[in-house]
Amino acid sequence: MNYANQFRIKTGNKADLGKIDADYHGDFDNEESTIDELNKYSKRLSDLQSLMYAENKNSLLIVLQAMDAGGKDGTIRHVMEALNPQGCNVVGFKVPTAEELAHDYLWRIHKMTPRNGHITVFNRSHYEDVLVVRVHDLVPKDVWSKRYNEINAFERGLANSGTTIVKFFLHIDKEEQLKRFRDRLDEADKQWKISDTDYEEREFWDDYQQAYVDAISKCSFNYAPWYVIPSNRKWFRNLAVSQILVETMEGWKMKYPAPSVDLAMIKQKYHAEVAEQLGVAAEELIVQEEQPKEKRGKKKGKKKKKKK
Ligand code: AMP
Ligand code: MG
Repeated sequence: MNYANQFRIKTGNKADLGKIDADYHGDFDNEESTIDELNKYSKRLSDLQSLMYAENKNSLLIVLQAMDAGGKDGTIRHVMEALNPQGCNVVGFKVPTAEELAHDYLWRIHKMTPRNGHITVFNRSHYEDVLVVRVHDLVPKDVWSKRYNEINAFERGLANSGTTIVKFFLHIDKEEQLKRFRDRLDEADKQWKISDTDYEEREFWDDYQQAYVDAISKCSFNYAPWYVIPSNRKWFRNLAVSQILVETMEGWKMKYPAPSVDLAMIKQKYHAEVAEQLGVAAEELIVQEEQPKEKRGKKKGKKKKKKK
């Protein structure tokens, strides 16, 4: 199944969250049945990141949004596990500070976007400025209602500069949220997450859903698509997100940069002595290195024979 096609909100379509089954889990029955595929995507993600880092051309911005207990933290843990920390980071956006509020709402966002070759995950984002801000009237309607176009223009600019933006709404239903809140009460390692605010915000569930429907429907484009991921099942959510990330990065058709130096000259200059000791010509060492890693060993064997 291609989850990118399945869960992507097509430009101009309404993301009718009420009609999207948060419990959906495809052909999989349980976590166990996803493990092989999940491992495959994690490995691929790791390889693609390495390539991306080396190429130093594309950058990837992953935006995560969800209702409280929707699984942002779990998704981040899962995705980041596959990545080299050197080329990625996570930025969480909380209630804006006084300094941040003294600027336009994109100010704190723009400076955290990824540089070439890097992946940045936004745990919440500029979308809060048309979500919580809208639900609680933190600015007047004529201010937040203009932000959809502003956000589209901002993301378009990022995309034009080589940043691919992928936005995930982790869709859980209201019962699942309460269940997760309830589970936190009994789990020592989760109790710290419990807050009165989460329960209070739950009262605004419908307003949030409506705000999400509008944000997702108005701001999904080829250059920065929204994906609504059925997320009641954490393992299915991880699988779908991983597959979409792999597909996105594979679309870049990356390749390792050609060496910036003359390999033959380097070998001759710095490795001739070693080659001498091994009893092979320096150029032959080059031939070996140009082959895929798995074949190099075999060649070495042959060379040993030659030595006599
Ligand atoms: P958490 O992600 O649970 O640590 O909570 C962060 C809190 O910051 C959430 O309640 C968000 O709604 C809130 N928040 C994030 N961005 C904004 C924003 N731009 N304006 C107001 N509140 C925000
Ligand atoms: Mg919270």
